[in-house]
Amino acid sequence: MKGIGVSPGISIGKAVVINSTKAALTGVLLRNSAEISAAVNSFDDAVSLAVKEIEIIGQNTTLNLTDDELAILETQIELLSDPQLRDDVVEQINTNKKNANDAVIEVIATTVQIFQNMEDEYMRARSADIQDIGNRILKHLNMQNQGLSQKFESGTIIIAEDISPSDAITMDIKHVIGFITRLGSKTSHAAIIAKSKGIPAIIGCGDDLNTIKSNDIVILDGVTGLLFINPDQQLVDEYSQKKSVYDARQIRLKQLRQIPSITTDGAAIQLLANISGADDMESVFDNGGDGVGLFRSELLFMERDTFPTEDEQFEFYKQVALRSKNKPVIVRTIDIGGDKQLPYFNLPIEQNPFLGYRAIRICLDRTELFITQLKAILRASAFGDLKIMLPMISGVQEVRDSKKIIEQAKQELLKDNIQFNNSIEVGIMIEIPSAAVTADILAKEVDFFSIGTNDLCQYTLAVDRMNEKISYLYDHFNPAVLRLINYVIGQAHQHKIHVAMCGEMAADPMATLLLLGMGLTEFSMSAPAIPAIKNIIINNNLATAKNIFNKAIAMDSSQNIVAYLQEVTT
Ligand code: PEP
Ligand code: MG
Repeated sequence: MKGIGVSPGISIGKAVVINSTKAALTGVLLRNSAEISAAVNSFDDAVSLAVKEIEIIGQNTTLNLTDDELAILETQIELLSDPQLRDDVVEQINTNKKNANDAVIEVIATTVQIFQNMEDEYMRARSADIQDIGNRILKHLNMQNQGLSQKFESGTIIIAEDISPSDAITMDIKHVIGFITRLGSKTSHAAIIAKSKGIPAIIGCGDDLNTIKSNDIVILDGVTGLLFINPDQQLVDEYSQKKSVYDARQIRLKQLRQIPSITTDGAAIQLLANISGADDMESVFDNGGDGVGLFRSELLFMERDTFPTEDEQFEFYKQVALRSKNKPVIVRTIDIGGDKQLPYFNLPIEQNPFLGYRAIRICLDRTELFITQLKAILRASAFGDLKIMLPMISGVQEVRDSKKIIEQAKQELLKDNIQFNNSIEVGIMIEIPSAAVTADILAKEVDFFSIGTNDLCQYTLAVDRMNEKISYLYDHFNPAVLRLINYVIGQAHQHKIHVAMCGEMAADPMATLLLLGMGLTEFSMSAPAIPAIKNIIINNNLATAKNIFNKAIAMDSSQNIVAYLQEVTT
């Protein structure tokens, strides 16, 4: 089977299949009274969670639900609370020793059938509601029993529909040696998190993945995107050998951490890390990082049920500052929305979430949230070389408005006599084409740029970064993307401000010389990717890089550029 290899490395382990799209009968019978009462309890808990979930949807004013929609939700709550449903399920559990999952599937199937056979059209239509509440109960049951929140045995390879950023953060990953998903693309956040944790991962496998069952033995090659299910011994031996070679190379590359990243003709290149919290700092220095080029602060907001207070956020940023050894740390203000949802924020469901209410747009609308975060970052700036970075900037007005709010946050701290770095640098992500083409204007307003190729590609090429069906179009070597990047770097140099790249392109070994040739000297990536990029930098010179860039930028298609880069970089 083949998917997209997004986090390199080879793993051989046992599959644990999570949240398969459709709950299926397991046929497992309960053995004793303890198991029976546990099954009844988990059914009751799942029903309570399902009721709560519907209540939250009903109370979400931003959804603007119509009276009809609210009535459907009310009906579903009534159906969930129907004593007949509970009696039927409990009977299956008690009398037939069915486990809770199987009992619910059977009772719901029978009830749906009864409703579908009714004369009354209104009642017939209720069968869809019964199926829906059944799915909700099953979802919560399976979350308790085999969801991503469970403890895993060592050597587990997770097989899932998708892994949301919050799943990836809250999951017990100590024993997880690989991720494989049906959906997703190279820059989905599941991929980014797998990479930063150094866990091999393959995503976007499509429906073929449904054939894998829990306990199957799986070989996962995160470089090629190949996976093998229940391989024979010969294949296991072959991949064990490949794994040893790969792991040995990683260890060798890691030893480069003491060596400065300087090209053979003396250009010093900064290699920074992308992190999501203080726990990642060890890996930054372990891999020879020169600091943090992107601290995705929103991940703190995702692990919780409520917004963190200013003090809680201050502690979070301060911990990173204290572990930064006085190296720079660029803290990005919250970039929620799009694929990064906060359940407690009740963001409205949008037709085009990536083009919608997200990131800086939310911060400039909900200024109380923005000020709280800014004050927390400013307070932490007394403990390390912190900088502020604004995501999703589309034009100069957003920069000016944000700077006013930063000034307001500073004034509030000054009034309260709280220490912070008053000359903290403020930069922006260049990840929307309108920002890239107005880099000349924006450069006059900020201290630095950081090019976010993950979003820049999706917006420039009109390709949803999460959609595996069109992932072949998602390509940072597309001439349109390269021209934008080159323009941004040129404008930053002209206006004498720093420019870095923190999107996934910075970690692509095939892009390193091309970017050096454009004049990029600051690269930020998941920490485990740093050694391989450093290896390229210390073995090449700028003259070669410029030559490669000049040739590539004159080419008319990504296919030609990639073929050329493959030839000169391997
Ligand atoms: C990017 O868009 O390139 C980026 C680094 O931000 P994120 O991946 O968090 O959207
Ligand atoms: Mg982005």
